[in-house]
Amino acid sequence: MKTVSILGATGSVGTSTLDLVEREPDRFRVRALTANCDVDGLAAAAQRTRAELAVVADERCLPALRDALAGTGIAAAGGAQAVCDAARGADWTMGAIVGCAGLGPVMAAIEGGGTVVLANKEPLVSAGEVILAAAARTGATLLPADSEHNAIFQCLDAARPASVRRIILTASGGPFRDWSTERMRAVTPAQAVAHPNWSMGAKISVDSATMMNKGLELIEAARLFPIPADRIEIVLHRQSVIHSMVDYVDGSMLAQLGPSDMRVPIAHTLAWPERMATPMEPLDLVKIGRLDFEAADAVRFPALRLAREALDAGGARPAILNAANEIAVAAFLANRIGFLEIAAIVADTLDRFDPPPPGTLKDVLAVDAEARRLAEELVQGHGSRVEGCVA
Ligand code: NDP
Repeated sequence: MKTVSILGATGSVGTSTLDLVEREPDRFRVRALTANCDVDGLAAAAQRTRAELAVVADERCLPALRDALAGTGIAAAGGAQAVCDAARGADWTMGAIVGCAGLGPVMAAIEGGGTVVLANKEPLVSAGEVILAAAARTGATLLPADSEHNAIFQCLDAARPASVRRIILTASGGPFRDWSTERMRAVTPAQAVAHPNWSMGAKISVDSATMMNKGLELIEAARLFPIPADRIEIVLHRQSVIHSMVDYVDGSMLAQLGPSDMRVPIAHTLAWPERMATPMEPLDLVKIGRLDFEAADAVRFPALRLAREALDAGGARPAILNAANEIAVAAFLANRIGFLEIAAIVADTLDRFDPPPPGTLKDVLAVDAEARRLAEELVQGHGSRVEGCVA
């Protein structure tokens, strides 16, 4: 019996994880489930899985959670600290909170020393060194659930990095991959969250549309795998059938293929180093027929360039990139700024803020907070300067 906790259990990755866990009640026992404030979703999942504990990050939602769980024997808690406390103590913990809000809980899970699965990419981007150092210290096992990184994990001979010529991250290109910059100017939140291949939460869907998601994944790959950043490339692959590839010096290229369903990489991490069955139909290669590849366009999608530059510069740059992007995406989703202004605000924040490299978690959080403040200022004053950055 493996004990399982899911941080962000009510989201897209969280519910995919629950789906797998609930299919095998003899194999997995649920310890803690967390959400921000989706009390109905959380309480229902906690009751279905007979979880020990359900936690809402937003303390104002705790009374409703207590009401929903009254008489069930499931403990309820609320607040950011309660989420961190819930993150410790399971054999296997899924980090599926969206954004840097997941950093503290992921660190707490790592302190717990079990297997910590990272779907939540933003903490790795902002605090990669700190997270990896904590895992090395506590002996926690980090496994990637992001489909690209899980694909690389499956294909990479990590013990022989010198035998790797390149890692190739595949990108669907998002809903606007064929659109001109001019056409993207009028994109609405509803258009941006409608991803052609994947069903995901709002933030990552917008990141996919700007291709910042692929930029964050580039940084994530450089953190997770012992391959130099200049040997990690991005290739557009519309079908999202190949989830990433490893190219070896002898000319062999290994790829992982699978349906565009997060349950496949999540199942890999749930059962690892074994395998478990999933409800997905096997790929029908004849029906798929062809696999297409194209160069990614960093001119129409400036987020790709910004992320590459932040990775190359290192230090605080990835944390600034991520924080500014979180603010800009939230502002776009709230109809406060236009689609093209997302990357422009990130670029502007990076221009304005260049602190020394953060050495500790506290330093990272300080950089994150200041970058958010600056980005929010830019959102409020968005106008000619921001527009000018896009051209
Ligand atoms: P969703 O928006 O669907 O879900 C986010 C989850 O985090 C929800 O459970 C939400 O709770 C919770 N949450 C939100 N804000 C907070 C907070 N401040 N404190 C604690 N919990 C919070 O996101 P996704 O599932 O799409 O993505 C989660 C992470 O996984 C992201 O980092 C994303 O980049 C990554 N990822 C997602 C993939 C996907 O297919 N969706 C694929 C690969 C990576 P509530 O419901 O109460 O708001």
